[in-house]
Amino acid sequence: MAQVQEFLEQLYQEFKGNSEGRLASYIPELARANADWFGISMVTLDGRTYEVGDVAQKFTIQSISKVFVYGMALEDYGREQLLKKVGVEPTGDPFNSLIRLDEDSKRPENPMVNAGAIATTGLIAGHDPADRLNRLLSMLQRYVGSEVFVDVSTFMSEKSTGHRNRAMAHLMLNFGMIDQPIEEALDLYFQQCSVLVTCHDLAVMAATLANQGVNPVTSTRAVGSEHVRDILSVMYTCGMYNFAGEWAFRMGIPAKSGVSGGILAVVPNRAGIAVFSPLLDSHGNSVRGLKVFEALSKQYGFHLFDLSLGRCNFASRD
Ligand code: GLU
Repeated sequence: MAQVQEFLEQLYQEFKGNSEGRLASYIPELARANADWFGISMVTLDGRTYEVGDVAQKFTIQSISKVFVYGMALEDYGREQLLKKVGVEPTGDPFNSLIRLDEDSKRPENPMVNAGAIATTGLIAGHDPADRLNRLLSMLQRYVGSEVFVDVSTFMSEKSTGHRNRAMAHLMLNFGMIDQPIEEALDLYFQQCSVLVTCHDLAVMAATLANQGVNPVTSTRAVGSEHVRDILSVMYTCGMYNFAGEWAFRMGIPAKSGVSGGILAVVPNRAGIAVFSPLLDSHGNSVRGLKVFEALSKQYGFHLFDLSLGRCNFASRD
């Protein structure tokens, strides 16, 4: 599929000069990112990769980790048990909003905003904090296909500046929404946000979800196929901060973004795609990332509800 490679290169050239947006600045590690970093990676279900730009640059996964930790909690508890603890309602509020947390709700709204993500992380099973971290890292490794590491300086910065997240955890504790030791849940949450990945890694992770939970490069199962539907559903409705509705409307595929500038999107049964570019718009989504996905979605007919489209499966026969 030389055309796919060519198209990605064309998009890279078209958008690399776009310097709209701002770097995340709430911790020094993110503020130090290079505004020019830009990578696009696509991994197909037969394990082939098309990519261009800074696809091997390491950065911290941040909020994109929420998708995979939710999958782990689904495996640990099952859909119905987990639903009692963490909802699946989109909020339309920013990721770090405290607004929806009140006594009557009994559970945080969804696992893609911070409150729900911290509660979800707090549920991860394990004998002690080290065991829980090891389980979480092994889970991410199955998606990536190689060892992953926590960036210690980002973790320390997240931990020392995360007052808002700590406040959310305390509120949830007060409302009886969580009952685990909250400092442990917060530490694990800050650690999961600080895992280093590349744009290529994110595309493989997305392709694993597109492939019903089996990493198409290593053929290793990363998550039970019965959980993929639930993971993709919350990504679709809640994955792009308070732009999730418009993203779903325009692109029509499940996706998740993070403050370090990654966007990971799943084209079910077809491909996983990631874009990395750290300049963010006011919602916290990568500006170049949005532009690339808009162009890709149009070119290859990604929108799940555009029933008039012929589908390109990115397989060699296409
Ligand atoms: N570590 C960040 C936080 O919890 C993640 C933010 C994000 O990527 O949305 O505040």
